[in-house]
Amino acid sequence: MANKKEILDVIIIGAGPAGTMTAKTILEENNNLKVLILEKRTNIGVPVACGGGISRKGLKDVNIQLPEECIENKIVSLRTYYPNRDVKWKYGQIIMPGFILHRDRFDKYIALLARKAGCKINKNEPMENIEKDGDLWVVKTKKGKYYTKIVVGADGPGSRVAELTKVVSKEAIKQWKDGYVVGLEYEVGGVATDKLNFYFDSELAPEGYIWVFPKSKTSAKIGIVAKGVTNLKGRIETFIQSNFSNPKIIENTTVSGTIPGYGWLEKTYGDGVIIVGDAAGQTNPVFYSGIRNSLMCAKFAGEAISNALLKDDFSEKTMSLYEDLWKGYKIKKGKGFAIADPSVIEIKKIIKERGNDTLEILGNMLDNKELSEIKFFKFKMAIKGILHIRNIKIKDIKTVFKAFYISKEYGW
Ligand SMILES: Cc1cc2nc3c(=O)[nH]c(=O)nc-3n(C[C@H](O)[C@H](O)[C@H](O)COP(=O)(O)OP(=O)(O)OC[C@H]3O[C@@H](n4cnc5c(N)ncnc54)[C@H](O)[C@@H]3O)c2cc1C
Repeated sequence: MANKKEILDVIIIGAGPAGTMTAKTILEENNNLKVLILEKRTNIGVPVACGGGISRKGLKDVNIQLPEECIENKIVSLRTYYPNRDVKWKYGQIIMPGFILHRDRFDKYIALLARKAGCKINKNEPMENIEKDGDLWVVKTKKGKYYTKIVVGADGPGSRVAELTKVVSKEAIKQWKDGYVVGLEYEVGGVATDKLNFYFDSELAPEGYIWVFPKSKTSAKIGIVAKGVTNLKGRIETFIQSNFSNPKIIENTTVSGTIPGYGWLEKTYGDGVIIVGDAAGQTNPVFYSGIRNSLMCAKFAGEAISNALLKDDFSEKTMSLYEDLWKGYKIKKGKGFAIADPSVIEIKKIIKERGNDTLEILGNMLDNKELSEIKFFKFKMAIKGILHIRNIKIKDIKTVFKAFYISKEYGW
């Protein structure tokens, strides 16, 4: 338990990748700072609510050397499949090496790095309330009160920290939460693949997709993410039965959870506050993956917090550096698209309105090619698709491609 004389520099709520990476970054700048993580779980990373896909580049960008024990599988590429009225599915390729993580071990590993940098992690201590007291924040748990200069919400989807610190209005948070999608995954025997496979079909998985990730040489993790539908398990089974010859869902392998579906909170900082990771909606809205973005945005959060502590200024204006950093980060230094490009949200509206017609055009254009081979200005191909299936604007096709291109970089 803490009393008022004991003022911490930073309290982080949540020991997922966003929280532990924020702590690690702050303390590697200055290990004299007092940084505490409060985590509600007794066992970090358990239960797992994630497929575990992450690119090698994603880890490299945040300087994480992955220990072998965190790797469940190594991947060279991924495929995105689109429904086609002639051949069932057409697909595009994305060459980008990466991993399937043992997510529980990975979360523990980043937590270990944070501890080694000097962070204290209190497990089994959920944050229950946060209030302002003068210039400080008071964080309440069952065990007592903690006073801190800065509070970080890294508490995942449905962030209570974002609500309690009022970084945005109640209405904005409610609207944003209405955009959440639900994910469900099973291990399935008799299905073998060496790639990450994403099947986009807006009838089977509205506003989402079905994924097939390699688990072992003879089994795969098959999951669905979708919005506004029930019976996710039945939808996975329908997909499995019509795409694989001898599959067997393995009992007790369910993984499930919610994912922010429509991107980031309209504001991710406040007076002495930072919101990061799924709590801030930094999940990529196309692939719904967020490990990489959580880590990257946490690095920016750590840098902005270090800057504020150095200046001894935690005002909203100073904290806004964080949002400048994460929204300004580009695919290629100085140019290219930002992680928060509006196209990754617009694509969802386009596909929602036009459904599988848009996806079919995408499949026709990609047709087994690597995504980066397709240039936005090559509209002839788009026109060919539009002649085939009318009523879709070239500008929308351009947006869809841009969103996929950005998601290739930030999607996993
Ligand atoms: C089914 C499914 C599959 C997915 N597959 C992938 C994938 O393959 N690749 C990918 O990149 N992403 C995937 N994701 C998304 C990914 O899991 C998240 O983006 C990622 O976990 C975000 O990390 P985070 O640290 O922001 O949040 P989290 O990992 O959710 O961590 C938040 C932490 O905060 C803690 N917490 C919450 N409330 C409190 C409180 N009041 N007090 C204290 N602690 C609290 C939680 O216990 C948790 O430990 C998937 C998600 C789902 C649901």
